[in-house]
Amino acid sequence: MEERNIFVSARLRPLNEKERNDDVSDWECINDTTIIYNISFSPSERLMYPSAYTFDRVFSNDCCTRQVYEEAAKEVALSVVKGINSSILAYGQTSSGKTYTMTGITEYAIADIYEYVQKHVERDFVLKFSALEIYNESVRDLLSEDNTPLRLLDDPERGTVIEKLTEETLRDWNHVIHLLSICEDQRQIGETSLNETSSRSHQIIRLTIESSASEHLGRDNSSNLLATLNFVDLAGSERVSQSLAAGIRLKEGCHINRSLLTLGTVIRKLSKDKTGHIPFRDSKLTRILQPSLGGNGRTAIICTISPARSHVEQSRNTLLFASCAK
Ligand code: ADP
Ligand code: MG
Repeated sequence: MEERNIFVSARLRPLNEKERNDDVSDWECINDTTIIYNISFSPSERLMYPSAYTFDRVFSNDCCTRQVYEEAAKEVALSVVKGINSSILAYGQTSSGKTYTMTGITEYAIADIYEYVQKHVERDFVLKFSALEIYNESVRDLLSEDNTPLRLLDDPERGTVIEKLTEETLRDWNHVIHLLSICEDQRQIGETSLNETSSRSHQIIRLTIESSASEHLGRDNSSNLLATLNFVDLAGSERVSQSLAAGIRLKEGCHINRSLLTLGTVIRKLSKDKTGHIPFRDSKLTRILQPSLGGNGRTAIICTISPARSHVEQSRNTLLFASCAK
């Protein structure tokens, strides 16, 4: 992976059992960076959509999550131990594979960070784990029974802080597995009780890593590091992708996902011109992710694509979003 702020990849999932019976796949990864739509377009479609899309990396339907992690997320994830704020995001329509992809990547990344921490005895590390959900611009703690929305505060030193968010100091690997299973339970409760909610909410697992030179090596405060890594399973993109592609501005009170729409605008602006005004403050999601999207932060966006012909409209919208992020 080259040194760039935002690394963009696309992952095509296989057809599922139902789709294998009544649908077909029209997409193909022709090399490591290009995905094409195999069906010839009508002339009007040809004007609207490209038939080939190129990203930093594309993953065909036979790639496993381990490979996606190694080639599209690992470097961004591990930059957190060097004090660089970072995020890994899955973007795509509902059922395209966001949760499938992020679940694996989160576990691989935390395992690698653990290994790094254990090898580097010259530094003392403290790892803290949090989990939150953003639904309708309301932030909820996934590790707390209390459903009261959390406020975002501006801290002069740390930037945006999520008030009262539970932070569990990680003790060992079993503790990690336990916390991940709590998050998984929360997600499943959301999916069964309120179908709509789960596809409209953003789920974020955050790892905050503090480190300092080990005491016996003579502690030196100047080398203290603090950074956060976010694993973000975004809301389904189906509702906002069209408005994003058309460049429609966010209107007050409209029923689209403000956080997802603002994320698209922020990413598009960052990829064009970093010096202009970037509207990080327009949504909860972009406020929380600002340190990893802007400045010297690092972000990996994995766009998940359904191969089914019946999903072609959404797949194209996802690829157009990904193209804007390059
Ligand atoms: P989303 O979170 O985007 O709504 P999911 O991650 O829940 O989608 O995936 C939808 C279904 O497809 C799940 O049953 C999941 O196990 C399956 N799936 C997704 N991606 C893959 C993949 N790359 N390989 C195999 N199965 C997948
Ligand atoms: Mg999901």
